[in-house]
Amino acid sequence: VRGVVFRLGAPFAKISIEGTRVVAGAAALDAQVARQAARAGVAGLEFYRGVPGTIGGALAMNAGAYDQETKDILVEAVAFDRDGRRRVLKNADMKFAYRHCGAGEGLIFTEAAFKGRADDPAAIEARMKAIMERREKSQPIREKTGGSTFANPDPSKSGGRKAWQLIDEVGGRGRVVGDAQCSDQHCNFMINRGKATAADIEALVEGLRKDVLNRTGVELRWEIRRIGEPA
Ligand SMILES: Cc1cc2nc3c(=O)[nH]c(=O)nc-3n(C[C@H](O)[C@H](O)[C@H](O)COP(=O)(O)OP(=O)(O)OC[C@H]3O[C@@H](n4cnc5c(N)ncnc54)[C@H](O)[C@@H]3O)c2cc1C
Repeated sequence: VRGVVFRLGAPFAKISIEGTRVVAGAAALDAQVARQAARAGVAGLEFYRGVPGTIGGALAMNAGAYDQETKDILVEAVAFDRDGRRRVLKNADMKFAYRHCGAGEGLIFTEAAFKGRADDPAAIEARMKAIMERREKSQPIREKTGGSTFANPDPSKSGGRKAWQLIDEVGGRGRVVGDAQCSDQHCNFMINRGKATAADIEALVEGLRKDVLNRTGVELRWEIRRIGEPA
């Protein structure tokens, strides 16, 4: 990668819970944060159980699932800017939108504080189990994928149709380019069948985007962030 890469190590993966306030380092895994919160009887973070990634990524992407997102539970985040200044960003400063954080380019998040609500640990565990079962049924979670490829479009512009429905409508389900395949199970997921190159995946996804635009008039936006340069 041409650029600067930050890797937050173990000291940034700490999780502490006081009452219903959960403080997690940016390197803590979302699923781990959900599990620890559940054990401590703090509800509201269940949706993190099924989101692969870290709290840093969740802040940068406003990660969410099943009608809940980071925006709903975040109190404040700690970040460092390009001049090395420590900043504390309140929820409103994060300028969250659907799978988007508008706090500003170049911030490195190091910590987040969340506010949950008290509940019975067994009830929280049961909800997390249901989330995982739902995911297993509907998404190819055992394949090599990048998760949801497109953000769901604004329902007022797509007639309420989600990204997968639009892809399905244009016959994209199962489409193959090189070794990349649009999942048969959930067509907003692209699978690397083994030897797919980034170019295979981009060609597949851009083809789907073009077909959806031409045939339905809806412009899909990549949810996956692409970095690097074309080969
Ligand atoms: C199978 C699968 C299922 C998925 N399901 C969901 C889902 O249900 N909901 C959902 O929201 N997402 C989902 N995703 C996408 C992904 O898991 C989330 O976007 C997640 O929040 C990314 O976290 P990460 O730590 O892996 O970040 P990365 O993918 O490494 O990075 C994502 C972005 O965040 C930035 N970033 C990461 N850490 C920091 C930091 N500390 N400070 C500043 N910027 C940072 C990166 O620069 C990059 O721009 C899924 C992905 C997969 C593969």
